[in-house]
Amino acid sequence: MNNNTSEHTITSSGTAGSPALDIDKIRELFPVLHQEVNGQSLVYFDNAATTQKPKPVLDALHDYYTSMNANIHRGVHTLADRATAAFEATRESIRRFINAAEKEEIIFTKGTTDGLNLIAATWGRANIQQGDEIIISALEHHSNIVPWQMLCQEKGATLKVIPIDGNGDIRLEEFEKLLTNKTKLISIVHASNALGTINPIEAVIKKGHEAGAVVVIDGAQASAHITLDVQALDCDFYVFSGHKMYAPTGTGIVYGKRSLLEAMPPYQGGGEMIKEVTFEKTTYNVIPYKFEAGTPNIADIVAFRHGVEFIEMLGRKKIAEYEEQLLSYAKEKLSEVPGLRFIGTAKRKVSVVSFAIEGVHHFDVGMMLDAKGIAVRTGHHCTQPLMRMLGIEGTVRASFSVYNTTAEIDRLAEGLKGIVKMMR
Ligand code: PMP
Repeated sequence: MNNNTSEHTITSSGTAGSPALDIDKIRELFPVLHQEVNGQSLVYFDNAATTQKPKPVLDALHDYYTSMNANIHRGVHTLADRATAAFEATRESIRRFINAAEKEEIIFTKGTTDGLNLIAATWGRANIQQGDEIIISALEHHSNIVPWQMLCQEKGATLKVIPIDGNGDIRLEEFEKLLTNKTKLISIVHASNALGTINPIEAVIKKGHEAGAVVVIDGAQASAHITLDVQALDCDFYVFSGHKMYAPTGTGIVYGKRSLLEAMPPYQGGGEMIKEVTFEKTTYNVIPYKFEAGTPNIADIVAFRHGVEFIEMLGRKKIAEYEEQLLSYAKEKLSEVPGLRFIGTAKRKVSVVSFAIEGVHHFDVGMMLDAKGIAVRTGHHCTQPLMRMLGIEGTVRASFSVYNTTAEIDRLAEGLKGIVKMMR
């Protein structure tokens, strides 16, 4: 069985004490990167949508189905015990990864969208009343807007929005003005998927708590890039998806403080989430199982651990430093492209570059780059209100991961120059 990532250990090419990441070795772990697309070697710059998966994650999936597949928690046989241990090992890995106090504070979900809906449907339904206020920011992904909108409609509550400035930073002084004694919940993105802005969530959490509100953080774009410590942050909930951090699709977590989770009603009803069922009445299981009805996505959650441990093996600080280098290189190279305008110029950013090219529609840019083997994302990035606020329909977005290189950024810049030349 392959239960650890050690056989894939990456050796360093740097100096002792502070070894650099060996990007060639890292790339070897990602089979999907080694292919031609439209006759050119693939450049994958759509990491904010989903990252590629390293061999330890692929091996863990294969290993799960070939050595331990069974339903978890209820079995008395050996395979069920093995599968349960592997599933619960992921919970412990994630606890360590975000420095939660206890593994019971980690609830498995299908992803960020599922996690935010879980909080809205449980904590939200139980605590939001008519006249209450919920605050989000202008940077939010649709999945951190629509669940709160639905809750507000159901309860007669009001949704308020923190505006942004011209760089794509939230306006903290405006946020403070939005806080009232009716503010019950603040839900804000840690890092924007559309612009890359890293929000000052420490300040938002502090001010939110002073106003008596519960604070939810959408960490979908942060978990693969930023070192997390939910106890130091003191957020009430933190949510992310596994597939944006080298793990399979259909995985994610909600972190919640024990006291909140224990007081919340369940999400879905069914097996696993119960203590006892009679036709008259049901009592519920303890956390986290109270929120995990039915057979979960066992294999993918088992493999999720290997995505987390891949990040830990490389080191989040080193990943962040390397991606920062890619980001500044991209800013420099792309600014040489005639007619290119950056959208989102916040000082603190994850490795996301959004831009527009004068006179060329973003879809066309994306299609022409694809013809050159370069994968980027185009459109509104599930942030239509933000795009409307910026007065645009969409952007071209290149988002970098630890396996990307400056040579690939050169190809993007050259590709864009070629497109501009052809379109003029
Ligand atoms: N929030 C942000 C900031 C995101 O980038 C995404 C995914 N693009 C989501 C939420 C939703 O994540 P998922 O699709 O994995 O549920």
